[in-house]
Amino acid sequence: MKCETMEQALQKLQEYQQTMSAYNHAIGVLYLDATTAAPSDSWEGRGKTMEILSKITYKLQTSPDVAEMLEVLEKNADALTAVQKRQAEVIRKGYDQTFRIPAEEYVAYNVLCNDAGAVWEKAKNENDFASFAPYLEKIVRFNRKFAGYYNPQMAPYDALLNEYEEGMNTQTLDAFFAQLRSILVPLIAKVQTAEQIDDGFLYRHYPVEVQRKFSDYLMEVMGMDRKHCGIAETEHPFTTNFNNKDVRITTHYHEDNLVSSMFSVIHEGGHALYELGADEKYNYTVLSGGVSMGIHESQSRFYENIIGRSEAFVHAIFPKVKELFPKQMADVDETMFYRAINKAEPSLIRTEADELTYALHVMVRYEIEKQLIGGTLEVKDVPAEWARLYKEYLGVDVPDDARGCLQDSHWSGGMMGYFPSYALGSAYGPQMLSKMEEDLGDIWADVAKGDLSRVTLWLKEKIHTHASFIKPGELFKQVCGEFDAKFYTDYLTEKYTKLYHL
Ligand code: ZN
Repeated sequence: MKCETMEQALQKLQEYQQTMSAYNHAIGVLYLDATTAAPSDSWEGRGKTMEILSKITYKLQTSPDVAEMLEVLEKNADALTAVQKRQAEVIRKGYDQTFRIPAEEYVAYNVLCNDAGAVWEKAKNENDFASFAPYLEKIVRFNRKFAGYYNPQMAPYDALLNEYEEGMNTQTLDAFFAQLRSILVPLIAKVQTAEQIDDGFLYRHYPVEVQRKFSDYLMEVMGMDRKHCGIAETEHPFTTNFNNKDVRITTHYHEDNLVSSMFSVIHEGGHALYELGADEKYNYTVLSGGVSMGIHESQSRFYENIIGRSEAFVHAIFPKVKELFPKQMADVDETMFYRAINKAEPSLIRTEADELTYALHVMVRYEIEKQLIGGTLEVKDVPAEWARLYKEYLGVDVPDDARGCLQDSHWSGGMMGYFPSYALGSAYGPQMLSKMEEDLGDIWADVAKGDLSRVTLWLKEKIHTHASFIKPGELFKQVCGEFDAKFYTDYLTEKYTKLYHL
């Protein structure tokens, strides 16, 4: 379609976004199927379909029509609504970036990531880093190259960071992590010398079918509408969204661990509430979905830690825990449960790390990614560097790669520069809580009754509803003012000082 008049450009804008969101929907469903229901050796055909779909979306994104449309819209920027202006801006960014990536590289990368996912899963299960290493090498090479396409003016790792958190850079993150390290490392040391918490009862036998019921209950307490949010089981829990009426979360059940799935469900539930809370005017547009990984993690970790690991929340759900697991919980009371789920101990697995040591797990990945992309670390040396950093930051020995550098799926999916968002998201939460309490007064009496409606409504009005309309840095500032990591370190210091009677 020719795009010469503003009327044509606006029509094209709508059509283009609807078409792209339909392809993204299809690709998303394929990915969801690959990780949930598809049999293990079915990747070949799916790989072919993915290849064709990514060729089509690449063509759509880089078509001269889009360039023409953007030019007309940009020339008439004053006539655009704020939403249209932001849509054009997001499409322009994607266009310029994708245009710089040669088509064959773009397609090859998508195919590589699809294959790497299956290889990683097998490598993790068999503790075989060597089989995954050639894929990781290719992924690193692609990312280094893509960084130059994304933003040739930036250092490569900064360009990758910006893909997940617009405006972020290593300078800011180095300072942020240094601040965390200076407060958290001594605090963790103090906790380790205090009397230890017994959490053994959390690792008794918890049948999967009862844990599934527990997940249903938790989703109900969180106010998640099951007509619009599904749950499935995968190796690594995640959330995916197609629009604000179709969101899916996944979890992983371990029979000898009650809390692993419990907090995955609450965490992914937080991501899902963000997506479900978006204003529907953003559906089928480039502004649908959460605005950045950092803001997304601020929501998931708000529910997981600030709410889910609070005394008030435990008070609300403990009767149900007792009812579902009467034998396992026979000798456990509410206080014991609250203390156990907050036990802080340097450990190996990021997704199961406690709230206090969590950011240090992220720091390890940040340092390794920075070096891989910067070219100062080779893939074959990742396991050794991983072990060295875990020893330095957390004081733990890494026994094997399955519990070391193979534990997360991110790199196999091509995501480099993503991990820091987890720590940023964690740090955003306490500042949001402070603002929420200023606006709403005491929220904890509600939480203790299992009523999260005021909490969720506040987050919905301040954050969720805007989807990707407002840039992450601006959104945070609009809600909380200047970001200050001190809210986070103060929150952790206060919580753990009380918990461990320091
Ligand atoms: Zn998350």
